[in-house]
Amino acid sequence: MTTPRAIVVVTGTEVLGGWVADANGPWLARRLGALGVQHVSTVVVGDRPEDLRSALEHARDQGVELLITSGGLGPTEDDLTAQIVAEFTHRDFRLDEALEGRIWKIIEPMSKRWKGISQEAVREANRKQAMVPDGAAVLEPVGTAPGLVVPPTDDDPDRPPTPTVVVLPGPPPELQPMWATVETHPGLLAAIGGATSLHESTVRLFGLPESELANTMRDARAAGVAVDSFEITTCMRGGELEVVSRWTPEQEEAGRAFEAFLVERHGDAVFSPDGRTVDELVLDGLRERGWTVGTAESCTGGLLAGRLTRLPGSSDVVEGGIVSYSNAVKEQALGVDPALLAAHGAVSPEVAAAMAAGARERLGVDVAISTTGIAGPGGGTDDKPVGTVHVAVTGPEGTLSRHLRLPGDRARVRELTTTAALHLVRRVLAGEHDAA
Ligand code: ATP
Ligand code: MG
Repeated sequence: MTTPRAIVVVTGTEVLGGWVADANGPWLARRLGALGVQHVSTVVVGDRPEDLRSALEHARDQGVELLITSGGLGPTEDDLTAQIVAEFTHRDFRLDEALEGRIWKIIEPMSKRWKGISQEAVREANRKQAMVPDGAAVLEPVGTAPGLVVPPTDDDPDRPPTPTVVVLPGPPPELQPMWATVETHPGLLAAIGGATSLHESTVRLFGLPESELANTMRDARAAGVAVDSFEITTCMRGGELEVVSRWTPEQEEAGRAFEAFLVERHGDAVFSPDGRTVDELVLDGLRERGWTVGTAESCTGGLLAGRLTRLPGSSDVVEGGIVSYSNAVKEQALGVDPALLAAHGAVSPEVAAAMAAGARERLGVDVAISTTGIAGPGGGTDDKPVGTVHVAVTGPEGTLSRHLRLPGDRARVRELTTTAALHLVRRVLAGEHDAA
């Protein structure tokens, strides 16, 4: 059984030029991986027909079973994907009148709201979006653009055969729902017939360098765990180490054995054996305890409150926060003693603790989190270089604080601070605090 392979071609001058970050290539990569398809590459091309054509030809020459395109299905002149795919697969490009009617039903109510536009132009756009390569299956529009599944063309021995081509719209809110139909589409299943879908499992660790994992893998192998029989991907993200394993049903035993080994070896660093993020764990933990939370932020300027409120349902536990960037606000809004600020400076364990205590009282929350630090690039001293951060978490059972020395630029220091703060809350939820 060979693993089917796929290439993704992302189109759009706005993506190539960096105005819009590609969301479709990475998203499709994850979906393909889960289907058991080997994702060979993602190619980004601008909205130029010759560039799209050569990207398709290059993919074909790699011998992949599946080619996926995103973008270029709109009604405007630079949206040419369907036509280029028709030429590439040596198929006639013709109007699907029934599809034209279905698209019209979507456009008509909108077109009535558009003032002063030419009805003929709307009709023209409608017709353009209903043009389909002969023999292609139509994926019903999520917006106004239909997707396509074009079967392989291999009827002429004088031409290289073309793989199955799946044509998807560019806007992620259209592409993603449409993929649900693609996954079970007979045309796709025919292309990836040999694939076995993979189970994906994620273990998250904090406070462990990535290099340590190489040792663990070696030891696991020595202990008889078949770590080479399935796919393991590790990556460092925002200060956390993510270990993603993917396995087929036959590889499951080895996969589970590896994860058990990981938990056994790095128990303390493993904070999420079930893939939940620290954000989710903290909110769930607070909910279980019936504790409310609030923030007093200096160097993170509200990022922590933003993170805490990002997940739906956070209003169960999050009360609010105070962005106390200046000393004046630290004093007035949080009641930090000016003498403390004068004696130790704003970036100090004393002030971090006072900020958390002030927020706990003034916000009336069970748990208060404070951050104060030097994010840079300026403001560092020998004593307190850029990256010096103090975080404190005060709860009903005491305070837990950390003095951090974080690497990286301003954005990274601020991001890592929010992550470290959430991990501190996790520890407080588990009953840890500083010795009195
Ligand atoms: P339509 O023009 O009807 O919206 P389309 O299929 O022609 O659909 P594009 O014109 O290529 O899509 O893209 C429309 C918008 O969708 C882009 O301006 C961009 O905002 C977003 N988009 C397209 N491709 C991507 C991508 N790969 N990643 C993130 N956003 C994208
Ligand atoms: Mg476009």
